[in-house]
Amino acid sequence: MSDSPIPYARQSLDGADTDAVLGVLRGEWLTQGPAVPAFERAMAGRCRAAHAVAVNSATSALHIACLALDVGPGDQVWTSANTFVASANCAALCGAAVDFVDIDPDTWNLSVAGLAEKLAAARRRRDLTPRVVIPVHFGGQSCDMEGIAELGRDYGFRVLEDASHAVGGRYRDLPIGCCRFSDITVFSFHAVKIITTGEGGMALTNDDELGERLRQLRSHGIVQDPMGGPLRRGDPWAYEQVELGFNYRMTDIQAALGSSQVRRLDAVISRRNALADRYGAAFAHLTARSQHVPDEALSARHLYPLRVAPTERRRVFDGLSARGIKANVHYQPVYLQPYYRQFGFRPGHCPEAEAYYAGALSLPMYAGLTDEEQSRVIAAVRDLLAP
Ligand SMILES: *Cc1c(COP(=O)(O)O)cnc(C)c1O
Repeated sequence: MSDSPIPYARQSLDGADTDAVLGVLRGEWLTQGPAVPAFERAMAGRCRAAHAVAVNSATSALHIACLALDVGPGDQVWTSANTFVASANCAALCGAAVDFVDIDPDTWNLSVAGLAEKLAAARRRRDLTPRVVIPVHFGGQSCDMEGIAELGRDYGFRVLEDASHAVGGRYRDLPIGCCRFSDITVFSFHAVKIITTGEGGMALTNDDELGERLRQLRSHGIVQDPMGGPLRRGDPWAYEQVELGFNYRMTDIQAALGSSQVRRLDAVISRRNALADRYGAAFAHLTARSQHVPDEALSARHLYPLRVAPTERRRVFDGLSARGIKANVHYQPVYLQPYYRQFGFRPGHCPEAEAYYAGALSLPMYAGLTDEEQSRVIAAVRDLLAP
């Protein structure tokens, strides 16, 4: 089957995963049963965070995280230009103004130097500085969180980590999700991500109040968490809606899959890193560049982005496609989307992110990619980029 198409990402499921899902389907609870709190405990324990709140997507997690951090009209929220639109939309959904920070030319993550400059310029002009900054761990590699947290203390902003790519990754020997340098961290369990619940997401925090807000906003703004939180009034049937919330709950079906998947997370991360190391070695002699991973980080390797000459990108993309290799491109700078252009953003706002995007190409990267399939990808890339 050496000619079957190779996607850029794919879920990896095994018999234990299907058994876990079937167990829920044959049991008492499809939703609001014990599987969601069990998944939350597993993730909180792994990440060494006090609270883990499972929701139906990372997009929902980002939205309620912004609300929990009191983002609203009149506020600024800044994020990386090189990300998926959801990292910015969460703030726009709260009525805040979004702005974008340029990326580091080597890690392709939000540039801390760029953030520092932008903050200083805003302060000089007496402009509003952000209420929240949302660093994105691009491709699974942590941003320089200590640098961002330091700026947060200087300028009084909160930090929301979009770790949609980074579950299972580490930063300075700390698990991503521990929130040592942030207020809240968000994971995605979409099918293309590191581990999956089909659709799904999670918000983690060490702050008890934020944890309670997140739980409340997930479920209509009701304080008696239907997942078994304490009643505030005497009547056993009573519940109180104290703010405007959503139904962003994860089902037990999804959570059972998540708990089963997370048991293999370490193996998944090492397989992804082995694949990344092999790509890196195979392309070392080419002019194409791979993402720089500083020693202090263990990337979760959600993506394997390769940066080729902008004039070559389309030819390489099409050439791979003709060979049955379905590459992808991550990301068009978010502010160039028509929705964001209406706020006045124009090409040139984040030159590094635009230059990176012009040559970006994400190669197949997932735990189930076989050595033989990877050899096909490597041979195709070398062939297409041969001098
Ligand atoms: C996938 C992704 C999201 C959204 O995740 P969903 O679970 O699909 O809502 C947000 N941010 C980034 C960086 C992503 O890659």
